[in-house]
Amino acid sequence: MISLVGAFQIHHVFGSSAPFCDSSRRGVLLVLTRMKLLPIILAWACSAVAALAAAVTSPNEHFGFAIGDDYHLATYTQTEAYFKKVAEQSDRARLVDMGRTEEGRTQWMLVFSAPENLAKLDHYKSIAQQLARAEGLTDAQAKALAAEGKAVIWIDGGLHASETVGTHQLIETVWQLASATDAEMERILKDVIILCVHANPDGQELVSNWYMREPDPRKRILTTTPRLYQKYIGHDNNRDFFMSAMKESTNMNRQLYLEWFPQVVYNHHQSGPAGTVMFVPPFRDPFNHVYDPLVIVGVETFGNAIQSRFLQEGKPGATSRSGANYSTWWNGGLRTTAYFHNMIGLLTEVIGNPTPMQIPFIARRQLASNDLVAPIAPQAWHFRQSIDYSLSANRAILDQASRYREVLLYNIYLMARNAIDRGSRDHWTTRPGRLDEIVKLAAAERAGTVSPPSEETGESTSTSPERLAAKYWELLRKPEWRDPRGYIIPADQPDFPTAVKFINALVKGGVAIHRATHDFETAGRRYPAGSYIVKTAQAFRPHVLDLFEPQDHPNDFRVEGGPPTKPYDVAGWTLAFQMGVKFDRMLEGFEGPFERLPYGQLQSPPTRQIEGAGKVAGFLVDHRVNDSAVLVNRLLKAGVDVFRLQRTPAASQRELPAYYVPDRGSARVLVTEAASLLGLAVQTVATPPPASTLTTLRPVRIALWDRFGGSMPSGWTRWLLEQFEFPFEVIYSDRIDAGKLREDYDAIIFVSAAIPAHGVRPPPMARPRHLPAEYETWIGRITPDKSVPPLKQFLTAGGSVITIGSSTNLAYHLALPLQSALTERTADGRLRSLPDEKFYVPGSILEAKLDLTHPLAWGMSERADFYFDRSAAFRLPTDAAARGIKPVAWFDSDQPLRSGWAWGQGHLKDAVTIATAEVGAGTLYLLGSEVAFRGQTHGTFKLLFNALYLATAQPAAKP
Ligand SMILES: [Zn+2]
Repeated sequence: MISLVGAFQIHHVFGSSAPFCDSSRRGVLLVLTRMKLLPIILAWACSAVAALAAAVTSPNEHFGFAIGDDYHLATYTQTEAYFKKVAEQSDRARLVDMGRTEEGRTQWMLVFSAPENLAKLDHYKSIAQQLARAEGLTDAQAKALAAEGKAVIWIDGGLHASETVGTHQLIETVWQLASATDAEMERILKDVIILCVHANPDGQELVSNWYMREPDPRKRILTTTPRLYQKYIGHDNNRDFFMSAMKESTNMNRQLYLEWFPQVVYNHHQSGPAGTVMFVPPFRDPFNHVYDPLVIVGVETFGNAIQSRFLQEGKPGATSRSGANYSTWWNGGLRTTAYFHNMIGLLTEVIGNPTPMQIPFIARRQLASNDLVAPIAPQAWHFRQSIDYSLSANRAILDQASRYREVLLYNIYLMARNAIDRGSRDHWTTRPGRLDEIVKLAAAERAGTVSPPSEETGESTSTSPERLAAKYWELLRKPEWRDPRGYIIPADQPDFPTAVKFINALVKGGVAIHRATHDFETAGRRYPAGSYIVKTAQAFRPHVLDLFEPQDHPNDFRVEGGPPTKPYDVAGWTLAFQMGVKFDRMLEGFEGPFERLPYGQLQSPPTRQIEGAGKVAGFLVDHRVNDSAVLVNRLLKAGVDVFRLQRTPAASQRELPAYYVPDRGSARVLVTEAASLLGLAVQTVATPPPASTLTTLRPVRIALWDRFGGSMPSGWTRWLLEQFEFPFEVIYSDRIDAGKLREDYDAIIFVSAAIPAHGVRPPPMARPRHLPAEYETWIGRITPDKSVPPLKQFLTAGGSVITIGSSTNLAYHLALPLQSALTERTADGRLRSLPDEKFYVPGSILEAKLDLTHPLAWGMSERADFYFDRSAAFRLPTDAAARGIKPVAWFDSDQPLRSGWAWGQGHLKDAVTIATAEVGAGTLYLLGSEVAFRGQTHGTFKLLFNALYLATAQPAAKP
């Protein structure tokens, strides 16, 4: 164990296990001993090494305190300077600029290896890349490359900036890698290339400054920062790794899946389960059925390496599996997206706080078990101890990687080879829903029949409902249940620019993409040139399947009839569904005039010309394309007239639901640019449509609710509004409670968790000590007594309130005549929410039907996939229309589930998930589903955009 606190640095410089500096010099020293020159030479050698090691500045010298000292946190500004210093001073380090963060900082990665490896870094990178993609390699070639290559290990820190052990263990790890001279480190550096990645620079700067603002160290406490520690999404920065909406995830995905292909991805988190020090892999079920099992076995191996080292070093208190709720089901996290790329993703969660803390006495954590082999006694706990555990975990992984370097490299090749093979022939993935179906079928078929005893065992085969006749195995191999060989995304779909955004998410995740160079025909269908093709015969096949196919989450109950076991994150996320992308699933091999695009090449929507010739009165713009909102917002900003057509004019060449833009002012320039850069379909008309068919759109004064500390759904929405160029202002409860909202705003957006449940009085928000004056007005919550009356006044005076998810609660505060569809009457007649045992939809995709005659549904199709995450659904009274309430989208089936898990989904039959309610002169928008979930639900963004436009839209006087 290496301790680097303060005065012990000299001890470390000489190395705890190598008293005579490094091993290469030791041979020289032995020879010299015989020459009786030892005393002189020893003095020379050690001073030389001391000088060498001292050449790398220690954290203590750089930061003015040792990493792990109580009450001290380093900022990113200081850390960045330290990384640069280490890179300059150490011949084992390379500094890599990964790109900018959302706040404009540089996100750095330090690459460590022995100097002779660094001299051939590109060569080793190429080996890692070739093995991970397995394209055109024979097993023998792969073996040779694995023998020659270096293991590549990713160690990050600081993703969740409030988890301060993360960044600080990274700083200390960087120092160790640059300066430690013990034999183990020398071996590690020889065998391994270590990627030390700072996962969230902006967050470290914010959190450390916030903690250190208190001048008296003993009064420093980690409290909620005023805003999110990633500019838009805070903790959800670990929910963005298949989407890559944020710059940081894009930067890291580039290093992971396009540059370095590490075999192991170690993602540091905090905090450990109460009564323990750290959660370490392996993880609990459910398993995701698209993985290569070698991934999971690798996770177990490295988890054991950490546990084993902890025990060797006398570090008890690490728990696994059932010790916490982390599973291997979900895609989208830094650790988990790695699994879908055949990489061993590790997550640890350690306790720790720069302000000393206590490990509490949790009774059940004192009993040793398979998942907690060495319990730890309750005790006082210092920051440095958590750093030491993290350093040991890092060392354990690096040691393991060094010892199994060749196996790791060959295994990642094997997984890629398996993926290519599975994508090149008929292959089936057994999913829980299919097994349930077969078991149910078998049960029905043998109902009433007594099966004969088995010939082999003499036992009745009907004793277990799970034990089935061989013919049912064949049923699992239905042709239509084969995994696809690939997917075609036709270029002639209504919103192709959004399909291109989907392709770019795949591109950022390192997926190989093809594009049709000419029109082609396959499986009886014609496709235009420019269509994209994603084949599954590629290394990252699990990732491809996962983003196109439904997730079939098992019905996960500890006991039958009991409450469901919560998934670690969401249950379903199929990105193609969320984005409303149209695609065809190809179950047979297929070829065509396809060009393979270079890896990592981002795509743009095809440039379009304005269609039409002759006299031009104005332009019709296809509103089915989400990016038409960008154009509308640019036109409104420029003061150019823009209208929404209520009906397609007869003059139109084809049925084109559209915006109409008269050819005046800067309209032509803006429309031409949008056709060219955004790929919008635009056609000219010779005569303006009649005024009676037009709705005038006007600028909208938008307010977006947020709170002190930052709401993640609000942050995602803020990001979304910026992407589509909606102007808006962020407001807090303080402004809402002040009233007179109509003077300043036309529309106010409340994302999920803004408006409390009816009948619930939220506790007042705690006010941090030494709160800087600028945040005074951010403190507070939406309350029934202070916030609802001004909101009602705002609505009555003609304002629009747009509520999403649980914030549709506002309808109940306003006593509107509708009720939740997800309630039941208890025996004593009380209305209560359906318990989880009866209805449970933890983040899944559901299909609903829309009323396309309602202006809220402008540009939508009749059916759409909605994101439902413990969301809202309503029952409307029979006289709803007369009372100003209109359903816009509802579940018209008792099986609306498309992807994920929807226990008791029959309760959703005929439930309304999107509705509008007139309140005085204004409108309350009830968007019960998460229409703007994590920047992913492009398929339902229009509902939010339309609600915003409708806040100021008016029937046209004349065009
Ligand atoms: Zn975390």
